[in-house]
Amino acid sequence: MRELIDSVHRLDGARGANAYLIEAADRSVVVDTGVASGGQRLVAELRAARIPAITDVVITHYDPDHIGSAAAVQRETGATVWLGAADARILRGEVPPPTRTRRVMRRMSRPDRAEQPQLTELSDDSETEIVPGLLVVPAPGHTPGHHLVRWRGVAFIGDAALVSKGRLRHLPGPLISDRGQADATLAAITALRPRLVLPGHGRAGRLD
Ligand SMILES: [Zn+2]
Repeated sequence: MRELIDSVHRLDGARGANAYLIEAADRSVVVDTGVASGGQRLVAELRAARIPAITDVVITHYDPDHIGSAAAVQRETGATVWLGAADARILRGEVPPPTRTRRVMRRMSRPDRAEQPQLTELSDDSETEIVPGLLVVPAPGHTPGHHLVRWRGVAFIGDAALVSKGRLRHLPGPLISDRGQADATLAAITALRPRLVLPGHGRAGRLD
């Protein structure tokens, strides 16, 4: 676990995607968890950390490299696991993934065979303050129910964008569910003027 900025840490145990930990006064919040195969390492890291109890896990979107170890963390901590409502419906198979690429990815990843956490759904229409000062905000485009987290000027953006050379960049086109929404989400992140952007993949960055 490495502190990136006061009260914000990157979790080294997670595999496949970045996972972060926020110390919010008397409780801790995890943002994303990596793939399922990293679950034991991630849980061991959290167990060894001197942090307030983990009460919440925010999953930015339903992709297996973000939600994969959420069930393991929930089993260890009893935390509430949050996911956008539209993504929860896709994960449960109630609606098909929004693009052909995503339908192929779903067949390969077989979420029905993976252990899934018990989910608490986030509104896709409005922001949710799950902990005082910590907002979870709809940020659709990569997936329909994608969210980002805001905490003390830091933006945890999941796969809404990558950060490179002081700019936000789109992920490769086939991974985007709705280009118009993705464009709007990038503009919205920029408008937040975050002091630090923490993406789901790649390194943290500041915007010019
Ligand atoms: Zn993703």
